[in-house]
Amino acid sequence: MSSTSIDTACRGCGLLCDDLTVNWSGQELLLCEKGCPTARSWFQTGLGTGSDNQKEEGTTADKIETVKRWLEEAGSALLCGLEGLTLQAESALVELAKKERTFLSAGTSPDKITSFQRYGGVSCTLGEVQQRADFILSAHVDLFSIWPRFKQRVLSPPGRFLSPDKPRSLVFLGDLKQLQDHSCYSEVIDVPTDQLEQAIILLRRFCKGQSQKVASRAEDEAGIALSKAVTQQLLRLSEQLLAADYPVLFHSDNPPIKPFLWAKLVSEINLRSRLHSITVSAGRAKGAASETILAMTGFPDHIAFRNNEVIHDADRFQASRLIEKQEVDLVLFAGDTLNPNWLQLFQKLPDSVRLVIIHSGITAIPQLAAPVIEIITQTPGIHDAGTVLRCDGVPLPLRTVVPSSLQTVSDIIRSLLD
Ligand code: SF4
Repeated sequence: MSSTSIDTACRGCGLLCDDLTVNWSGQELLLCEKGCPTARSWFQTGLGTGSDNQKEEGTTADKIETVKRWLEEAGSALLCGLEGLTLQAESALVELAKKERTFLSAGTSPDKITSFQRYGGVSCTLGEVQQRADFILSAHVDLFSIWPRFKQRVLSPPGRFLSPDKPRSLVFLGDLKQLQDHSCYSEVIDVPTDQLEQAIILLRRFCKGQSQKVASRAEDEAGIALSKAVTQQLLRLSEQLLAADYPVLFHSDNPPIKPFLWAKLVSEINLRSRLHSITVSAGRAKGAASETILAMTGFPDHIAFRNNEVIHDADRFQASRLIEKQEVDLVLFAGDTLNPNWLQLFQKLPDSVRLVIIHSGITAIPQLAAPVIEIITQTPGIHDAGTVLRCDGVPLPLRTVVPSSLQTVSDIIRSLLD
């Protein structure tokens, strides 16, 4: 017998479309109305998880008791992950870190933390982009391939506050090779990835009002080798950014561009005009653990809870550093999926460090030197309802599409808190 869920949110990418109708039977997806191919694959993968036929050793209750004992015995524990969880699960994890006086690290890069603390984060919503943005700069990221329904969900119908005589401009700045279809953009400024940082610096100089001669002289001193055509395009881009009524920058959160370069561009333009910005992450919707940690502790990430104190150190309390320097004797990871970076890190743990992995079971865990307790949970947005933050910080409800006999991450953390 098949079942249907309407107005369902999809966590296949950061756009978090919440208008899907999903119909399934058992573990088979029969219909995914309004869903793009990525959504269909995300729901199909999720339907294959959360069932009792997974080969877990021992009951979840036994495992929770062992984890409680491990936490009591730990002298220096680290709680990490938090990606792709509901706000409820993230908050419970921060409470657990406080109670057990552990380190807490969602793995945010120190550069991102510094940039966030100095310049702030996302500054407008996708709704504002749809209704008001007359100029969109997509930098080092192809919005149409990372968010397959971007055109349908954000660009159409044209915004209520946009003039029909002045069509919205959408400019791409970055390596042309990133684009699936460059005709989606009004203009493409093709800059190889290794020259992009220099292009942003030059754009900032133009936006600050430096003449082409002065900016180019500084360019020569720095040994920058942008072509004349690109320099001209950047000059025109600076004029367009300053003249637009509601310009929005979408930028990638990936290296090699340091996050503070985008943040400086935004803050410098805002001294003269205004520019909003939204960070774009590839892959499944990740939520915003840093926002939850900030709201609950006053710091966005990389924290040590000690007695009644919260100590923050963006560099020292990174999960990767703590593990590599062997400063922890217990690592508790809780997240939707275990990505390859975490897995690589856990492979470095010696057998003297205990490891707890709480996840939805999509990633198979290889043999590790560290003793491991794995607890498989419901997948947020498939079995587990709750609230998640979209890429623009808007909270959205997740529905239970399919019931599951497994526990949620929140249930497990609450049991550990008891
Ligand atoms: S665009 Fe993203 S959120 Fe929307 S249906 Fe496709 S994968 Fe899901």
